[in-house]
Amino acid sequence: MIKNLSEVWIGDMYRPPSEAYSLILQVTVGCSHNKCTFCDMYKSKKFSIKPIEQIKREIEYFRKEVKYADRIFLADGDAMIIPTEKLLEILAYIKEIFPECKRISSYATHKSIQLKTDEELKKIRESGISLLYIGLESGDDKVLEKINKGVTAAEHAALCRKAKKAGFLLSVTFIVGVLGKKDWTDHAIKTGELISEIEPDFVGLLTLRVKEGTELHNEYLRGEFQKADGIEILKETEKIIENINVKAPVVFRTNHASNYLSLGGTFPQDKERLLSEIKSVLERGTIIERRYREL
Ligand code: SF4
Repeated sequence: MIKNLSEVWIGDMYRPPSEAYSLILQVTVGCSHNKCTFCDMYKSKKFSIKPIEQIKREIEYFRKEVKYADRIFLADGDAMIIPTEKLLEILAYIKEIFPECKRISSYATHKSIQLKTDEELKKIRESGISLLYIGLESGDDKVLEKINKGVTAAEHAALCRKAKKAGFLLSVTFIVGVLGKKDWTDHAIKTGELISEIEPDFVGLLTLRVKEGTELHNEYLRGEFQKADGIEILKETEKIIENINVKAPVVFRTNHASNYLSLGGTFPQDKERLLSEIKSVLERGTIIERRYREL
């Protein structure tokens, strides 16, 4: 029998900001890809899927600890990679033990969606997972190759379409400043174009942070990567927004702790307002620079 949380969660735990009030159930350890040059989240973890009996014990443990859980997030990096039969068994057990749960969500990688058939995705959707978080990072293949994402923008677009067809809501993120001071024009334009093509339900822009222990940090130490400053980050953000042209509603946020400016709105109707907010901040460039130094 599990007695405390230290027997449940292995290593540091990550979740999207919008899962702040969710019960976090760790069904996998680490990320099945774990090769992105900028990412330090799961570097210390060897990827594994927890045994089903352990997962069931953890669900039972949380039932005793938590009075009410209407949202459950499946951690770590890639719960969707779990073989379908096992994932369906986990979802059925969650439903049985937490009947009040209204939303189950998870991170997903390109590989985890690639490996599942349309039929399997549909079954998983119908069995409870309704929202997938995917780090797309860039719409530019050169950037995706440089950061070792292991996928092209066209493949990402196809996988997102596949997930949407199965009925999942998609929350995707892109990285601003991923090229540092190098020319980011193609990254920004193609990222805006990819968002326009996919029309995800939610888009978040994160600002690159160079984390110790990553390949990117080594590049930075060797002088091969120079961080973009706040003004450059905002201009890149502006260029991405200029290139977002959608018909379906897309909720847009830059409210992650890494960002210089917190923006929020829904495309297409808020596009001009978002651009004018950036413009007015760019005109007060000194404020941005001060915030940049504080980070
Ligand atoms: S797929 Fe996501 S979690 Fe895995 S290494 Fe890349 S950024 Fe990190």
